[in-house]
Amino acid sequence: MGAHISIPMYQRAIPQRYRLVGQKCVKCGKVNFPPKAVCKYCLSSAEFAPVKLSGRGTVYSYTVIAGGGAPPEFAEIARCKGRYPVALVQLEEGPVIIAQLVDVPEEEEIFIGMPVEAVFRKIYEEEGVIRYGIKFRPA
Ligand SMILES: [Zn+2]
Repeated sequence: MGAHISIPMYQRAIPQRYRLVGQKCVKCGKVNFPPKAVCKYCLSSAEFAPVKLSGRGTVYSYTVIAGGGAPPEFAEIARCKGRYPVALVQLEEGPVIIAQLVDVPEEEEIFIGMPVEAVFRKIYEEEGVIRYGIKFRPA
């Protein structure tokens, strides 16, 4: 009999930093994500209120990464697929984050301003540990 992992256990195992919770600066009102020690917009406040991000956004810019130039966390995907799109996604709440685009059959289908939504996907596996993170797919 194999090890049994319940769904709640699995959910607790997802690190806090992968949840879509940003910080709303109490001084300037802008949303920081990923979390920062000091607001990156006004650079003068370290007081934040947690804000749940919708995960919806639009493609601000994108590039297609091929084989050799892949950073380590993408190297496994590059080995499997050869090419894959990475985008700067502007979230509804304002922050711009970089993430891989998934569920895009043809890279020609990607365009600036394309609506996307966040999904949790396997990012890479290292020494048997699977790392999950945020990717985006067409909304
Ligand atoms: Zn601020």
